[in-house]
Amino acid sequence: MTDRLLPRAAALAAAAVVAAAGLAMPAQVGAAGSLDLRATYDAAAVIDYAGGRMSVDSTASVSNPGSAAVHRLVFNLVPLRIGDAVVEAVTVNGLAATHDADDQSLTVVLPTALVAGGQAQVRVRYSADLSPSPADGHGYFRKVDGIIVAARWIPWLSRPVEFDRPTIGNPFVTASAAQVDVTLTSERSLVYATSGQRVGVSADGLTQTFVAHNVRDFNFAAAPDYQQASTQVGGKTITLYYRDLPAERVLELAERAFAYYADMVGDYSWPALTIGESVTPKALESPALVWIPASTRGARVTYLVSHEIAHEWFYGAVGSDQAAEPFADEALAEFLTRTVTGTMRASRCPDDTLDRSIYEYTDACYFETVYVQGALYLDAYRRDVGDAAFWRGVRDYYAAFRFGMGGTRQLLDALDAASGRDGARHAARFPRLYPDDPTPSGGPTPTVGPSPNPESLTFGAVARLWWFGVIVE
Ligand SMILES: [Zn+2]
Repeated sequence: MTDRLLPRAAALAAAAVVAAAGLAMPAQVGAAGSLDLRATYDAAAVIDYAGGRMSVDSTASVSNPGSAAVHRLVFNLVPLRIGDAVVEAVTVNGLAATHDADDQSLTVVLPTALVAGGQAQVRVRYSADLSPSPADGHGYFRKVDGIIVAARWIPWLSRPVEFDRPTIGNPFVTASAAQVDVTLTSERSLVYATSGQRVGVSADGLTQTFVAHNVRDFNFAAAPDYQQASTQVGGKTITLYYRDLPAERVLELAERAFAYYADMVGDYSWPALTIGESVTPKALESPALVWIPASTRGARVTYLVSHEIAHEWFYGAVGSDQAAEPFADEALAEFLTRTVTGTMRASRCPDDTLDRSIYEYTDACYFETVYVQGALYLDAYRRDVGDAAFWRGVRDYYAAFRFGMGGTRQLLDALDAASGRDGARHAARFPRLYPDDPTPSGGPTPTVGPSPNPESLTFGAVARLWWFGVIVE
């Protein structure tokens, strides 16, 4: 563990320097993109399992519901950044199109403008390497110990979002697609855990087709030797694909969390929930799918299973800009997690504002601020306004933004509308979202106990923070 800690400690020191220099909002946050367009996706991947490589042929059927013509499209494509992806061809309605790959974004210049009400078929073909290294630090697109994980491998309408960040935050924002069709082919028979439902298998078993509705990404994990275990809750099936995880315990915890969230927030949004064992440094959420790292044991199983499943409600169903305002999905998911598991606790970092982007917190305090203080903030609000009004607000927010894009302000507004409280109370912790209130009324700033100065953390404390940071998303 020590050898893995040292780079982290160095990163911590570097982050402190950046913090001292003053962080500016990166230009990428809020840059124009393609989030207002609509699309369905039809993607085929040929997986070279032995070689650890994928060739992808994906078509986005894009429509423009707005009133202004669109001249270029921005797609998020993570393998550009971490899979050495080579884009082989981009066509729009069959015509070759100029494109530019930068960071994790693929910008396509449309040969003719996409007018209001118009449609275009954008086909992208690329090949990329699944990282073979367990130390790549990302875990979005890799093959390690025989398990493939692929996140955000379908070019998906987005805006330019900078991949590098000092925190474990998710540098993504994508809108929900009404339909996604996926065909996965490999040279050997694989068991897939995906965001969709399997709808077909070839006679030789090597090609499988899946469909998903109302998803904002389509991730999968695959292995030749996954075992499978299922349970039913509220008429829905939860299936775990695993090799090493304690299956019975994972399903028990999943069932408890799932039932609680459905009861308190609203119905689960897809026909089934899949849990895929991953060989990644982090757990990860996807609509109708979560990844739990193979090595997860003990209390971390309880925490991670509960946290990732909470994201089915907030991130999966109700989307938000995960890069620009992580409070919207992470604080709410964490609040649900710590409520259902009874593990609400004080933060180990000083109180801080809660409405910054993932680029503007330090690695040392990102989790402790956005997740832990965020959950405490919501819990203090709940205690202040009472359970009935609080949960009504959460349910209203979920219903209003399901399959759309919510956000921190939208969440707080929904809570205030249900409780009848004044939004000015949020100004102290959300100064950017409530800039017009010079005399914030205070609001439910939670008491969080002793807060260590991050610069004087002991090595053991750094190790604990590192451990929290590395396995949570
Ligand atoms: Zn999370």
